[in-house]
Amino acid sequence: DVRTRFAPSPTGYMHIGNLRTGLYAYLLAKKNNGKFILRIEDTDQERLVEGAVDVIYNVLKLTGLKHDEGPDIGGDYGPYVQSQRKSIYKEYAEKLVDLGGAYYCFCSKEQIAEARGKHGLTKEGAFKYDDPCRYVSIDEARKRIENGEAYVVRQRIPKTGATAFEDAVFGSITVDNNTLDENVLLKSDGLPTYNFANVVDDHLMNISHVMRGVEYLSSTPKYNLLYNAFGWEIPTYIHLPHIIKEGGKKLSKREGDASFEDFYKKGYLIEAIINYIALLGWNPGTDQEIFSLKELEEQFGIDGLSKSSAMFDVKKLNWMNSEYIKKMDIADFHKMALPYYEKVITNKNIDLLKISALMHTRTDVFNNIPENIDFFDSLPDYDINMYVHKKMKTDLENSLEYLKASYDALKDLSDWTEEGIDNALKALIEKLGVKNGQVLWPVRTAISGKQMTPGGAIEIADILGKEETLKRMQMGIK
Ligand code: GLU
Repeated sequence: DVRTRFAPSPTGYMHIGNLRTGLYAYLLAKKNNGKFILRIEDTDQERLVEGAVDVIYNVLKLTGLKHDEGPDIGGDYGPYVQSQRKSIYKEYAEKLVDLGGAYYCFCSKEQIAEARGKHGLTKEGAFKYDDPCRYVSIDEARKRIENGEAYVVRQRIPKTGATAFEDAVFGSITVDNNTLDENVLLKSDGLPTYNFANVVDDHLMNISHVMRGVEYLSSTPKYNLLYNAFGWEIPTYIHLPHIIKEGGKKLSKREGDASFEDFYKKGYLIEAIINYIALLGWNPGTDQEIFSLKELEEQFGIDGLSKSSAMFDVKKLNWMNSEYIKKMDIADFHKMALPYYEKVITNKNIDLLKISALMHTRTDVFNNIPENIDFFDSLPDYDINMYVHKKMKTDLENSLEYLKASYDALKDLSDWTEEGIDNALKALIEKLGVKNGQVLWPVRTAISGKQMTPGGAIEIADILGKEETLKRMQMGIK
């Protein structure tokens, strides 16, 4: 049976890389009629953030990655919060000491750091420092513990030999044991480190496929040694490549592109975010790019996973988001766009529904709406050189002339509708015997103050209304 898990640490936000891990774990479970388990990894008590677990639930709920077992819904393998499993880790740490896979260590952190610093690494990258505690007998160590001495449990790694394992993405990997650090498994506060908890939990929760970021790949031989020491079956390891930006840079909180929340707040649609990150490291093997979650559940597979870093391309994400926006019902679009209109449009005479008709097919990210429509509310300062456009065959002279003629053609128009305005300007163009653009370009730029606008001169004039359009044209002529 396929059982996958998502094991986020409650940091207070959902990193895009983490969400991708969760998504893939969810998809693998769904594809195989398996179970998707949520486990909260909160053993790093110093990094706990208030309300952070709710952030995790909320993102899973918003994205539709529904878990089958977890702290909030229970299951047969709980508790699903690591801080509630303290006694389990202690029990298994002691077992592991008895099995020879770990030892009690009484050195202080400083002692260890100093000893390591002093002795350094061998040419092969092995640690020269040999912890004296690994040679203390179990009986003696337990006596010292009974006497109240502080201790940690440290993994015992063979001094010779090699450890090999298979990763479903990165292939077979072999490392010399003497390059592996004897990490702390159980800290002096009785809480486990990730190095220990992940193995114990994945085993006890019956996880069949362990999916996680590639940053854990180099530690996986140590986890393998733990599985072996316990005599436990090793799960299928699936490590996922890094997500990077152009120039090899990491996604960054400061640049606002690191977390799900960053994108959600900017007005990206959840379906588009999920669709986009599904393709960050997974190739469906076809040309299809737009996938609903349901389609992903049907098509996802380990063989499409890549081991090279995935390039986070915000332009591609924006394109994808615009595709999802186009598929929205116009009424839904309008509802979502309204708060963005209200940021820049205070004029009550403007029919916002008409703006939605323009923007529905022209929006990539909701956040970009205000800067594209602010001119409807007030004309920005502009330079009349904007009328000049080579391809439209407008220069300063003819554009002012045609703008004046357009003003005259529109000033007595009673049918101020798209059709009415269109007819009036078309008649003028015919009368003047000029190209459409020679009239429409100066009119549009004069009434919008911009060279790039959503919609053309006629649509904009219709939305602005007769009075405002004529006022702006007159200002443009002077
Ligand atoms: N708690 C780890 C993290 O948030 C997850 C590691 C794992 O999936 O095993 O990075």
